[in-house]
Amino acid sequence: PVDVPVDPERGAAVKAADRAHVFHSWSAQAVIDPLAVAGARGSYFWDYEGNRYLDFSSQLVNTNIGHQHPKVVAAIQEQAGKLATFAPAFAIDVRSEAARLIAELTPGDLNKIFFTNGGAEAVENAVRMARLHTGRHKVLSTYRSYHGATAAAINLTGDPRRWASDTGSAGVVHFWGPFLYRSQFHASTEAEECERALRHLEELIAFEGPQTIAAIILETVPGTAGIMVPPPGYLAGVREICDRYGIVFILDEVMAGFGRTGKWFAADHWGVTPDLMTFAKGVNSGYVPLGGVAISERIAETFAHRPYPGGLTYSGHPLACASAIATISAMRDERIVENAAEIGERVLGPGLRELAARHECVGEVRGMGVFWALELVRDRSTREPLVPYNASGADAAPMARFAAACRQGGLWPFVNMNRTHVVPPCNVSEAEAKEGLAVLDAALSVVDGG
Ligand code: PLP
Repeated sequence: PVDVPVDPERGAAVKAADRAHVFHSWSAQAVIDPLAVAGARGSYFWDYEGNRYLDFSSQLVNTNIGHQHPKVVAAIQEQAGKLATFAPAFAIDVRSEAARLIAELTPGDLNKIFFTNGGAEAVENAVRMARLHTGRHKVLSTYRSYHGATAAAINLTGDPRRWASDTGSAGVVHFWGPFLYRSQFHASTEAEECERALRHLEELIAFEGPQTIAAIILETVPGTAGIMVPPPGYLAGVREICDRYGIVFILDEVMAGFGRTGKWFAADHWGVTPDLMTFAKGVNSGYVPLGGVAISERIAETFAHRPYPGGLTYSGHPLACASAIATISAMRDERIVENAAEIGERVLGPGLRELAARHECVGEVRGMGVFWALELVRDRSTREPLVPYNASGADAAPMARFAAACRQGGLWPFVNMNRTHVVPPCNVSEAEAKEGLAVLDAALSVVDGG
């Protein structure tokens, strides 16, 4: 039993005030129709009409331990009673403990934690650290990536959201990462794709001038752009290239980190340690804004006697740090990372592949843990996407119909271009995962039926 009010009148009032005064991100204000949400618990949330939705989006792929986890809520309440806010320059218990725990979890010698208020700010600072450490200015990032919406982060992003904000991408050069299903390299095997993607990167570096390149930034497993699990050897290959040219290797684990792939960090699947690792989202399941950069000893040393020129008023906020400690402790106690791995291997992976076998509109299934994408196509043999790249309005209608069918069935999907991402909380139960697969099955039938 969950005490979420059924109160359509209140819902209408919330919606009216929202429409009057809230300016929404990434939206044309006049045409959006946001759902008024009355409450949430675990993997579900409710609207004011009493409709229940299974949250297969984990909001923005961040509620990794679901909604309203009692331990995390209690930790925030307790910290608010003790010390609600304090400036970053002071040593406070929850900040040092959160940093210690995160440093312990991150791979290799990423032993210093710079706290931020989210993912984009982490990317901004990682890039600044790399530039100051190397004395170089260029940063290489991939097409088919998302790194955030602030100045440097949006320029690094390799998807259409960059277009309107692109200032000429000062110092940013994009390259292609590996993605066999839509290979830029005419590869037909993962090994070929890996080898050619690495050669492409090497050639690009030769033409840009290695001595001008501060950093290469990659999402370990690109998330928003389509959950493309890299082929074996790719990340190790990039690591080797970075070492050879003295380039800082930044892995962006904002979405893939903290359990999403079935390990604490996606990099752990390939045993690769970057020089800088950005995180946010799952670090505290998004209960209070928090992100950060995990910094290697070598880069931290650059700033041992030289001030690091960055930081905001709320960096390492006590409420956020307290919620991170509680989240990490709940994830350990409840074996939530192990659950993500097991649900992926035993339920979501096989279940999604079975859907692909039965629905003509599914071109490919990819992913790991609780981090999956279904690529929907018009035609399996040509791989023509179900909707054109960056479609909107009538062009995007088939995906809108799919999303509406999911919501009708009580599932909140994550839909992006011609894909639906299957990204429930890391502590989703087997029964919930199966419930979600059944709704996806029915919604895919709507697409198959035209
Ligand atoms: N990096 C990655 C890989 C992301 O997926 C995101 C957000 O989706 C960001 C950075 C930006 O994070 P935030 O929205 O917290 O600024």
